[in-house]
Amino acid sequence: MKLAGVSGAALSMDSGGAEAGEMNPGMSSSVNVSNVNPGKVLLTELTRKEVREWVASGNLKAAIIPTGSTEQHNEHMALSMDTEAALVISHLTALKLYPQVIVTTPVAFGICPFFMKRQGTITVREETFLGLVWDICCSMKTHGINAIFIVNGHGGNSRALRSNVPEFSSKLGIPIDACSYWDSIPRDRRNEFTDTGSVPGHADEFETSFALAAFPEKIRRVTYDDDEVYTWEPEQEDLDRVGYFDAQWFSKEFDKSSYEESLLGTAEKGERFIPYAVDWVANKLQTMIG
Ligand SMILES: [Zn+2]
Repeated sequence: MKLAGVSGAALSMDSGGAEAGEMNPGMSSSVNVSNVNPGKVLLTELTRKEVREWVASGNLKAAIIPTGSTEQHNEHMALSMDTEAALVISHLTALKLYPQVIVTTPVAFGICPFFMKRQGTITVREETFLGLVWDICCSMKTHGINAIFIVNGHGGNSRALRSNVPEFSSKLGIPIDACSYWDSIPRDRRNEFTDTGSVPGHADEFETSFALAAFPEKIRRVTYDDDEVYTWEPEQEDLDRVGYFDAQWFSKEFDKSSYEESLLGTAEKGERFIPYAVDWVANKLQTMIG
């Protein structure tokens, strides 16, 4: 299977024991997803004709909106980590539930003012982020999609989503729910997926394992040099404009220790976690759409 953004060979999906065969719209359990062009569940890859016909078929039950960030992920990871992770989980979930779920364009900007002293991060205001998610929900509803699930990949978005999604749902009159993909791991099971038990962490063992499994090209082999100056001191008025605040937990020591923990990351750990999270998200979505 070739997935946009997914290069790990181990990410082939369990087809639920189905034999290879023809796609059978409306009976997702009989679909062997390895026969499905992965682009068929991505809104951005479809034509308007394909969207129209999918809605008309009655098979399309829900949309997933992946949300992430463009955010510093220490010395060794690309800034797209959170967006790509949310997209991978969303994409694999939609394939698992094919042909019931479409994945929208991901929201690649999140709320991360606390990272503005490391270069590269783009932060957006909470109202900007929520406004964008709301507008995407409204657009999908306008096109006849009557259930929406938001799969989040950036910790800074979690609270805003949790506290506003119920209102989105009641305003639009359709089920809308949100999760962060790591919510799939209960606190007491974190050590089953990581040595450190740090889930989701930030650019440490957990996220590095995810990336090594799904998009290893986004990881760099670098060493952490104590003498290097990693911080950046912007003008105060620039910091004020982007809503910077000092998150106490995000210190130089945190930077260093999370880098060191990232060295425990392996593709095998990611390969174990990703299908587990996909199953969990798929179950939640299935409950929503009935
Ligand atoms: Zn992250």
